[in-house]
This record gives sequence, C-alpha cells and structure tokens, in this order.
Amino acid sequence: MSHPLHAPLAAFDALASPGPFAYPRTFHHDGGQHSHHVVVGSMIHGDEVGSLPAVVAVARALASGALAYGGKVTFFVGNPEAGLQDRRFLESDLNRVFVDEPPDDHEGRRARALKPILDAADVFIDLHQTILASRERFWIAPFQTVGWHWVRALQASSMWITRSPGTAFSTGTMCADEYVRAQGRPGLTLELGEKGFGHGAEAVAEAAIRRLLDLSDRIAAGSTTLETEAEAAPDLTFVETVHREPFGSSDLALRPGFVNFTPVTAGESLHADGHPPLHAATDGWLVFPKYPPRDPSGAYVTPLPGEILRIVAPMDAHPTVAFAAGIAEAEG
Ligand SMILES: [Zn+2]
Repeated sequence: MSHPLHAPLAAFDALASPGPFAYPRTFHHDGGQHSHHVVVGSMIHGDEVGSLPAVVAVARALASGALAYGGKVTFFVGNPEAGLQDRRFLESDLNRVFVDEPPDDHEGRRARALKPILDAADVFIDLHQTILASRERFWIAPFQTVGWHWVRALQASSMWITRSPGTAFSTGTMCADEYVRAQGRPGLTLELGEKGFGHGAEAVAEAAIRRLLDLSDRIAAGSTTLETEAEAAPDLTFVETVHREPFGSSDLALRPGFVNFTPVTAGESLHADGHPPLHAATDGWLVFPKYPPRDPSGAYVTPLPGEILRIVAPMDAHPTVAFAAGIAEAEG
C-alpha cells in the first residue's frame, strides 16, 4: 500500500521551484513588488506531516496566480525521508542541529542545506504537530517582542507556551526557529495538534499562511503596520512551564487518556494502576505527556524521554513585564 505521504509530497515536488536556494524540496515565489520574505517550514520533524497539504495548497494558488502576493515567500519540506518511514528523524533530530557545525549525517546535511533559506527570512513560521492530541493549538517559543506582534496579528492560536528570551532550548543544540531568532528576526513554532493527516492541521495552517502573506503585503504597502494589526487582535494567553517531571525510572507509567492541555490539580494522581505513585506537583495543564512504546516483553523501548510530563500554567504578569530584563538583554 502506498504511504499516505506519497501523494502530497508528489504534489509539492511538482510545484517545487527552489529559486535562489539549493535545497530541491523548496517552493520559492517572488512577487516582484516588495522584498519582505516570508519563510514557512513544514515537516522539520518527519512524522509531523499535517501542514504539508496546506503548504501545497498555498504554493499551488501562488503558482497559478489564484493567490497574489507581492513579496518573497519560501516553503520547504524539512525531513520527508524520515516522514516516509513514519519517523521523527533518521539520525539526528533536525530541529536540534542548526548549530555552527551540524553533524555529518542525514539531518546535519539537511540543516546545512536549509540554513541559507532561514538566513534570508524576514519572518519564519515553523509548523509542527504534537505526538498526542491537544486540546489547544499553541505557539511555543521564548518571548520576543516582534514575534509577539506577529503571533497576535496572525490569530492562528490564542495560546503561547513561552519563557524568557536568552534561555537556550538546551545547550549545544539549535532549533530552526531559534536559529532565526538568534539573528534578531522573528522565528516562531506553531503546534497544530496531533501529528498526522486529518486532525485539523491543514485548515489552520493554510489560514495562517494566507494571513501571513496578506499582512506582509499590506505592511509592505504601508497601509498598516505590524503593531497596528497586533493591537487590533486579542492578546495571547501566555503560559509558562511550572513543573517538569523527570522520567526517573522505567517503572513509571501515566494512566491512560492524558493529552496536551488536560487540566490537572495539585496532588491529583497521574500514575497507571500498579505503577509508582506520581502526583501533579501543582495546578495547571499537562503538556507533552509521554507514553513511550514498549517492546514485546512490556519494557519501554529505550532511550526514555527526559521528562514523563510537564505542567504549564498561565503567567501572573504579561511577559513584557515578567521577562523585562531578559527582553532588554536579548533585544537591546
Ligand atoms: Zn515537531
């Protein structure tokens, strides 16, 4: 049976036109009216395929002339080789290796090929999906003032899991959006819900991309500003991580049924029957609950994830206040 990724990937390949870039699974369009360059990433994690049909739909509309956009826009498909194997990555997590010296493996070579596209971006939106279902679509990135304006103006999701700027995702790694932010430009990740086709990612992603292009055109034309568009939209609900539960033992197991943004109350029992006790450390929403695959003997397939769950909660103060010092340091 044909892999469900074959058809949308073939559709993308038929439209592909890398323009000034070397990476072949790139669609580049230059409307010739202004130079604002929008870059959208799809499938940087191979099995997070849900945004690909949206990228194909917008690329097709641009190529046919059904959608007019006067600036530059580039879409890329990050890791289809892993996607065709239903895997997040083949050798290295691509969304960790946008470092100065990427490893000499499949994903390291891909990061090298994608960097020139990211270097050219005036705004970069990276489209991802979560492993499990999510009660909320959400943005996830450290706070960045210009990024906040884009996120608010785009209205693709009202929830942002954020943290102070200047705090690396983890030392010695570099995500694609982080790579763009490190150059002082907006780089943002949108989590579209449960990975795969048919969970609603397509429509949300297509609307977000179309709005991104429309905003870019109107801002470039001088008929509005990003700040005006942001202020006209409702502000985000900003949430931050308040607890990380380490995957401290291979005996730990969550009870079934948790998804992203399941509400929990402090002290609530989270463990499956017959497993060591695990209780919610605080009130909030559970995110990134982990149910790792098990081998035929019932033991987890290793390596285990670093955390079995995380709890996020709404911030007490707006990030512009709570992170003022970090923002001043990062943005000058
Ligand atoms: Zn991802």
